[in-house]
Amino acid sequence: MASKRQIHVGGIPIGGGAPVVVQTMTKTETANLAATMDQILQVAEAGADIVRVAVPREQDVEALKSIVGKSPIPVIADIHFNHTLAIKAIEAGAHCVRINPGNIGGEEKVAEVVKVATEHGTPLRVGVNSGSLPKHLRQMEYDNPVEALVTAAIETVQLMERLDFENFKVSMKSTSVPNTIASNRLLSQKIPYPLHLGVTEAGTKWSGSLKSAVGLGTLLADGIGDTIRISLSTFHAEEEVKVAWEILKALKLREKGPVLIACPTCGRLQFDMDRVVAEVEARLEAYADPIEVSVLGCAVNGIGEARHADFGITGAKDMGMIYSKGEPLKKVPTERLVDELFAEIDRYYAAGKKVERDEELAAQARAWLAENEDATAMTPEKLAALEAQAAAQDAEAQDVLGTMLTPAVEMDEAVSPVAGRRFTRG
Ligand code: SF4
Repeated sequence: MASKRQIHVGGIPIGGGAPVVVQTMTKTETANLAATMDQILQVAEAGADIVRVAVPREQDVEALKSIVGKSPIPVIADIHFNHTLAIKAIEAGAHCVRINPGNIGGEEKVAEVVKVATEHGTPLRVGVNSGSLPKHLRQMEYDNPVEALVTAAIETVQLMERLDFENFKVSMKSTSVPNTIASNRLLSQKIPYPLHLGVTEAGTKWSGSLKSAVGLGTLLADGIGDTIRISLSTFHAEEEVKVAWEILKALKLREKGPVLIACPTCGRLQFDMDRVVAEVEARLEAYADPIEVSVLGCAVNGIGEARHADFGITGAKDMGMIYSKGEPLKKVPTERLVDELFAEIDRYYAAGKKVERDEELAAQARAWLAENEDATAMTPEKLAALEAQAAAQDAEAQDVLGTMLTPAVEMDEAVSPVAGRRFTRG
């Protein structure tokens, strides 16, 4: 069930029907102002609405004052164990402070934080983690981890209400995807406050993205969740932001930049489509508009499933076609497909988002399409040749997959930067 209450973190509305907010967390030592600001600018550029910074020490809370003043997006201070730091973070101007009331030292200390938050109008994120539930819920956690998480979250909410404080959002963190889904479904039926979603310690970029997409995507598709963070084991925080956006775009909850549709290719493919897709994807980064662009490997189904795309290309051995909204625009040699596609896209924007069609070129493209749809009839020779080609491509794809699934152990600064962090790498 969607949350009913709305809070504001900086100027960003969260909950109560507001668009789902993308968060991430810096990985730098917060007290290293230059490195932290650098990362904040990177995640803001990637599309983070809000950023969280760890504040484990006095020097971090000192840096927080500057960070809040310089950051282009609202800043949440992430505090564990130390209620004094939470109070200082509020006083430093943090736009929100995250605490887990269960580990901050008892109700009296939570009350002190709430009192200062109320005075400053600062929202809190309060939550529970599956790894640190209160002692009295340990047996329940063993018997029914979902019920234990939800019970702990509700106890936290009741504490906030007893303290007459409603300016908060709630998070329940678990490393288990099924428990994340089940507990948030249950909690969303019981409380009206905004929910922050995340699968904690999700893993590497590859597995963590998939776990997050399944867990958070399932909840978001049900209308549950007001703000999300993808937790990935990478020092590139902007990668978390990109994954979050892909999840929101896939569910059509928010729009950001173009959407690329590309067929998976098969034995009918007769040109280097991997290269074409990579080039189209890279060149689309220059566009902010949420246009849909499709790349099809062949014309076997005509324009088929990509009929709704704003622009698309379909290739063949030597010649391909450019189309818009299911209607051919022109045929062009395969090696010029990408350049001509972007020429058409630019012409569309120059004309005030209007497709300009040359009827003669369109007629030639239609004829080419009809010819190529018919040409899909297979002779035994053609079939044998295509099967051999597909087998070779499969073998090649297996090699590529093997490389993707076996991450290089060698790390360099580009892959995994340590500059600005609290350790060095030998
Ligand atoms: S569009 Fe053509 S190449 Fe791509 S998957 Fe479909 S049939 Fe295969």
